[in-house]
Amino acid sequence: MDIEALIDDFREKLYDFDEKNIRKAIEFAIKFHGSQKRISGEPYYYHPLEVAKITANMRLDSGSVITAILHDTVEDTELTIEDIEHHFGKNIATLVDGVTKLHKMHFTAEDARQAENFRKLLLAMSNDLRVLLVKLADRLHNMRTIDYLKKPEKRERIARETLEIYAPLAERIGIQTIKTELQDICFRILHPQARQSILDRFRIIEENNENSNEHYIDKIANELTKTLLEGGIKTKVKGRKKTAYSAWMKMEQKNIGIDQLYDVVAFRVIVEEVADCYKVLGIIHSTYKVIPGNFKDFISTPKNNNYRSLHTVIIGPLTHKIEIQIRTKEMHAVAELGVAAHWQYKQNQHYNANEYAWINELISILATGSSPGEAMKNTKLAMYYDQVFCFTPKGLLIALPKGATIIDFAYMVSPIIGNSCSEAKVNGVMMPLDTKLVNGNQVEIILDKQRTTPLPDWNDFVVTGKAKAEIKKAILAKQDSQYIKMGKNIVHSALQMLNIKNQAATIKQAAKYYKKSVSDFLLNIGNGSISREELIKLVEKENKIESVFFLNKLKEYNYTEIPIKDFDPGIAVHYAKCCYPLYGDKIVGIMNDGTGTIIHTADCPNLEKVTSDSVQKIDLIWDQNTNSTPFIYRLKITLSHEIFGLSIISTEIAKNAGFITNLRITKRHTDYFEILFDIEVKSSHQAEKIIELLRAKKVVQAVERV
Ligand code: MN
Repeated sequence: MDIEALIDDFREKLYDFDEKNIRKAIEFAIKFHGSQKRISGEPYYYHPLEVAKITANMRLDSGSVITAILHDTVEDTELTIEDIEHHFGKNIATLVDGVTKLHKMHFTAEDARQAENFRKLLLAMSNDLRVLLVKLADRLHNMRTIDYLKKPEKRERIARETLEIYAPLAERIGIQTIKTELQDICFRILHPQARQSILDRFRIIEENNENSNEHYIDKIANELTKTLLEGGIKTKVKGRKKTAYSAWMKMEQKNIGIDQLYDVVAFRVIVEEVADCYKVLGIIHSTYKVIPGNFKDFISTPKNNNYRSLHTVIIGPLTHKIEIQIRTKEMHAVAELGVAAHWQYKQNQHYNANEYAWINELISILATGSSPGEAMKNTKLAMYYDQVFCFTPKGLLIALPKGATIIDFAYMVSPIIGNSCSEAKVNGVMMPLDTKLVNGNQVEIILDKQRTTPLPDWNDFVVTGKAKAEIKKAILAKQDSQYIKMGKNIVHSALQMLNIKNQAATIKQAAKYYKKSVSDFLLNIGNGSISREELIKLVEKENKIESVFFLNKLKEYNYTEIPIKDFDPGIAVHYAKCCYPLYGDKIVGIMNDGTGTIIHTADCPNLEKVTSDSVQKIDLIWDQNTNSTPFIYRLKITLSHEIFGLSIISTEIAKNAGFITNLRITKRHTDYFEILFDIEVKSSHQAEKIIELLRAKKVVQAVERV
């Protein structure tokens, strides 16, 4: 490889040719890639230099070329990003790091359905467009040399990935030349026969038209040039063969056979001004026969990659059906080089402002940037800024809205994973479940298989509709099952009180009376929609119990004692915020019509306020067997203003296995402090003991449960 010729080429093509650093980068590539070889047998460093050449052909800047030269050093040699920053500065290091990160992403064929997501990811990850452009150049060179790969499956996999991800990406940022070449190589690898048949067909058409010493394409082009000159437009019309891939796409889309492939050549008219485009169109349409339905005006309505041109199909000179594209020089540059063209045309800005956001942003940065290099550095892709892209450990891509948390991610993977999510690692590190994810996070969800219901507080931080809906669905299902259980307990205790032996038959009868299934009936009792009094009346009636004794007994029993066992706080039962019921307290449940049970302590003053008809009180008891759920106990402690006072209190609480979760000084006096403590304890017994011990301390003036 002739390094000096390469440098001359860069000198010619780069507007900001930075000879010193380009030479240094080449030295680095040669030195660090050392004796590494490509599969072709060539020295490895040929590859980055070829990529740099492609980058220079795109008319990018010196920074892009240096990045291209160094793009594989961090991945494949002992050189680190820090080394690159040391020798080439932070900008180049950031660019090389970006290309290296893109390189690490591997897409398998199964991910094909996610191709659009991957394209978005690539764009989102490339904060600086140059990263993406160098990556495309890298892929192009790898495709040019793909025949050296021995395994056909591997060639095909790479070709598919290129066709699905990189070619559309090149099109999206408007680089026609790269898109076309990538498509053609992929087409040759994936459908060699189809490609060959089309090329043969092209050759036959060509031979049929080869009747003089002048090639028929040139002949048509010269005719068109003459016609335009007579109409007052001076330009040279150029003709070219269409690519085999575009012909194939046409056959697929229009469902036509290879014999119907006639318009295999296209002509291009390039003029100075937009007005000239329409003038050319007028001349052509008034001279030749127009094939209706083929005219397209991409000047007034550009494609979303900023492509602008007029297209028409006519029966042209030599009675050939031909496609003609008409555009200005500037439009042509944009069509061939896409975003890269903006650097060439920056002095000559007159783009339509109503473009897609990212092109717009790019243009505005270019218009105001002090230098093209400066503009490039600041170029961000606003397009996908409202999304984050994360991965499962197996590499499945999950696209989420910005602000989404680990729980949103889990539900996006599957509702089963969401419901049983217990812990999670982000990039290998344990993180809280409400952690907001950022681009490129790899998220591993750790499941608690015992638990199949989401936690009610997840609702406070999830952002996706899917997670919200699934949490609601799962909680409602769980609530129902808990209400049914609660209903069973209530019915059981009512029937026992009435001394009814055949409970199952009675329940069935009662459900029938309400025209409900047994489980719906129990659910309605459990959530309070059918009151216990109503139930007792019904059972009484059905069993013809008229004994005064029982009726009196019923009045005596104003309630039944229902053990609260297996009920999840926050789902079927809720602890009142006014009295903080604790394990061991005497408790009463307030059943609101259909909304579950709120548990108060039996002496809570708020209980007396509850008088509404739709509300009923039931006596609840704690389940004696199991209780490990901690409770919050709020204490108001008045403390003498003494040194170490607070530490004496906290030591005492800790010694008795209480855990201070919150502490607030509510009054500050010269002689005393009043402090609110929230302490977590396992039972009221434990809390009482702590209160007793605190009261015995000299420094404590008063302890009160709030
Ligand atoms: Mn490479």
